[in-house]
Amino acid sequence: MRVTVLGGGLMGVTTAWFLARDGHDVSVIERARGLAEGTSFANAGLVTPSSADPWNAPGTLTRLIKYLGREDSPLLVRPRALPAMAGWGLKFLWQSRAHHHARNTEANTRLAVYSLALQRALRAEFGFDYDETTKGTLQVFADPRAFEGAARDSERLKEFGLPAESLDRGGIVAREPALKDSGELAGALYFPGDESGDAYAFTQALGECCKAAGVSFRFGETVVGFDVDGGRIKGVRTNRRITTADAVVVALGTWTPGLARGIGTKLLIYPVKGYSATIDIDGWNAAPRLPVLHDTLKVATSPMGTRLRAAGTAEFAGYNTVLNPVRAQAVLRAATTLFPGLAAHAEPHRVRYWTGLRPMTPDGRPLIGRLRFDNLFVNAGHGGLGWTLACGSGRLAADIVAGKAPEIDSAPFSPDR
Ligand SMILES: Cc1cc2nc3c(=O)[nH]c(=O)nc-3n(C[C@H](O)[C@H](O)[C@H](O)COP(=O)(O)OP(=O)(O)OC[C@H]3O[C@@H](n4cnc5c(N)ncnc54)[C@H](O)[C@@H]3O)c2cc1C
Repeated sequence: MRVTVLGGGLMGVTTAWFLARDGHDVSVIERARGLAEGTSFANAGLVTPSSADPWNAPGTLTRLIKYLGREDSPLLVRPRALPAMAGWGLKFLWQSRAHHHARNTEANTRLAVYSLALQRALRAEFGFDYDETTKGTLQVFADPRAFEGAARDSERLKEFGLPAESLDRGGIVAREPALKDSGELAGALYFPGDESGDAYAFTQALGECCKAAGVSFRFGETVVGFDVDGGRIKGVRTNRRITTADAVVVALGTWTPGLARGIGTKLLIYPVKGYSATIDIDGWNAAPRLPVLHDTLKVATSPMGTRLRAAGTAEFAGYNTVLNPVRAQAVLRAATTLFPGLAAHAEPHRVRYWTGLRPMTPDGRPLIGRLRFDNLFVNAGHGGLGWTLACGSGRLAADIVAGKAPEIDSAPFSPDR
């Protein structure tokens, strides 16, 4: 089958890989000059089946109100973004009800566990090096009540093969000595089954495997629409040409709904802006060894070779990709609060800031499946979990395109839901 994949981020490349491996003739169209130049460029790096729960946990509305108007808050809604996000926003709040949140978490956790197994298999087969860590993650809590709640919730993860170890301050510092000077540490959960790594480097490495398997990449080409013939997509129109294919997979992340709208398909994916700071920590002998998530600082950090990546903040501001220095520096400040030793290494010339748009659905589950045309499919809407879910999503999408039965239930991710 000739398949055209739109988008060269994590979802486009993993989809292309699994299709090519199954013997299909695959081409990828990407508007940037290379792979992973969109949201997959500099994310927090966490591959965490233990944290596959959507952000809109019960109590989301209260948190949104608490942070209103604070420029350096981890969660910010810009008033001018409200009209465009009204329908999406109401569904987002609706899905924060406890039973919805539990169901969405379960679906994502299953996909995340599947995804990490595929990622490990690829790493073992091709010897990928993407500055990965494979020794688990620490979820650290300053608030004792939040810690107790998370420890209770973590019991449910055991059924997915994700045991957690509860740690007190001494146990935390033994696991991660770089936290010894950190402020309040009420407790932590250690998840040995989690990983982290540089999503950009992984995408490049898998892209090379794709090329070796015959995938053709067309960079610098922007998809502008589709030619439709009855219930089928006859052609993909770009700024350069019209391409025909037996099947088309839309993996345009945050930019997926704009294109789908052109063929009368409404997809609820909203851009949620986040920031990262990548710090050159070469020479810091006491640098963190484990990825860490902190509950009140709302920051996640991952060691990446001689770098430390810190990321966080969620801003509802539409498709605005301007880097706001206040919000970018708030991420670095949170990381230095977590690791006071970092301050000595975070001189301005050693820090690179980045901002990206998380492609968020209201229920936090990605959209993977057929759209309302016989040969048009989607693999998008992974929010803040795209790196954790990438390989599993690519495998699911490839199976659905080929009409094969997926290894895990794809129904929770159906775009028709
Ligand atoms: C600050 C931050 C931290 C994050 N941390 C984590 C984390 O720790 N763990 C985790 O699991 N996830 C994390 N994520 C989420 C993760 O990065 C995303 O879910 C993932 O990168 C989405 O991948 P994608 O392939 O769907 O989208 P993208 O990577 O954005 O790929 C879409 C591609 O489509 C291209 N494109 C768009 N429009 C067109 C067009 N018209 N024609 C051609 N090409 C086009 C773009 O250039 C882009 O390359 C984080 C995100 C952010 C912003």
